[in-house]
Amino acid sequence: MPEKPEYDGIVIHFGELWLKGRNRHDFINALMRNIRLALPGEYADRLEKMRDRLMLNVRSSEDVGACMDALSNIFGISWFAPFRKSGTDMDSMISMANSFFSNGENVKIEPHRSYKMGQMTSKDIVSNFIKRQAELKFVPEKLGDKKLYIDVLEDFCIVHSKKRIGLGGLPVGTSGKAVVLLSGGIDSPVAAYYALKRGLEPVYLHFYAYGTIEEFYGTKMPKILNSLLKYYPRARVYAVPVHLFQISAMKEQQKYEVVLFKKFIYETAHIISERENAKVIVTGESLGQVSSQTAENLAATSQGIRCLIFRPLLGFDKQEIITKSKELGMYDISIMPYKDACSLRSRNPVTRISPSALESIYSRAGMEQIPRQSIEKASVGFWNGKSIERGPSQ
Ligand code: ATP
Ligand code: MG
Repeated sequence: MPEKPEYDGIVIHFGELWLKGRNRHDFINALMRNIRLALPGEYADRLEKMRDRLMLNVRSSEDVGACMDALSNIFGISWFAPFRKSGTDMDSMISMANSFFSNGENVKIEPHRSYKMGQMTSKDIVSNFIKRQAELKFVPEKLGDKKLYIDVLEDFCIVHSKKRIGLGGLPVGTSGKAVVLLSGGIDSPVAAYYALKRGLEPVYLHFYAYGTIEEFYGTKMPKILNSLLKYYPRARVYAVPVHLFQISAMKEQQKYEVVLFKKFIYETAHIISERENAKVIVTGESLGQVSSQTAENLAATSQGIRCLIFRPLLGFDKQEIITKSKELGMYDISIMPYKDACSLRSRNPVTRISPSALESIYSRAGMEQIPRQSIEKASVGFWNGKSIERGPSQ
């Protein structure tokens, strides 16, 4: 059995090295804030920045797994690894290296000098390992299947062998805020994931067709929100009842219901974006997937919305979205039964409506005030894993 090393901490590397100046500063600050939010409580104070990396000091080997799991859900991390510290001399490096491997393993040694003033170059380090092979439990090999990373700093080395690839992307918040239209379906939670990945801080907006908010809490929607919470735990939520819309929509022919609903949800999202200081609306639409998602209908329903609308899944096939949803562990929740907000679905919805035709049907049905009136009836606040906690906007 290999000796299990007691790790000193976890080293965290962020990609996007092209970031310069102020951008870089904001990127790192947001990343540190998001890591602190995600880590188990007592770990918030144990994160520090050290040149081009972050280091998390762990208290015990048992905590390493929980911290690694939290880090694996944070955007902006390119890779991370549990490490041990060693001295910068060959004796220390060799004895530390021996603690990582079992007898006879083939190991490629990958030194990296972050501090260039020392005597040894990276090549020297590798050739010293080879020269002193007799002292090693493992076999240093150019093509070794295991890797030993030695990052040489001024006073110590960071030694590790198990790099874990992070989610990449940008830290949530670095691209501003977005109102994310989240339904109970398969697409929008995946769209939300991609929006967060590019640094958007979500304000989730959901329209529900249940009688009370307590009934809504009893549905699958809390599970959908929780599946996104791990990527950013401080998300605000607007749960808006849809009955005012439904009463209005009954005045119109069924074939218009879907486009009216779309216009209604965009208008509501727009008002919320102003309130929340969000510059973007995100949806799970994909071009041509269903009748409401033709280019004409997308244009008509979003006409007049003075806010950028991002559709991260625009070019995805349904099967690709399903594959991603499964990979994210969301699929089984997304296919659970749910009462659709747009319940009267017509068999023959309009596929091509002009903006002016939709506008006049919308006002004929008396919908102009419905978004504001519905927001007044909304439950708003931070999602705590079970319910919405009322609290001030950030
Ligand atoms: P999804 O799988 O995300 O439900 P969909 O394939 O069912 O999408 P639509 O019903 O046309 O497609 O909805 C398109 C988008 O409109 C959704 O991806 C979502 O962003 C938004 N949306 C639909 N219904 C709701 C709702 N009840 N609350 C909030 N947003 C919604
Ligand atoms: Mg849907």
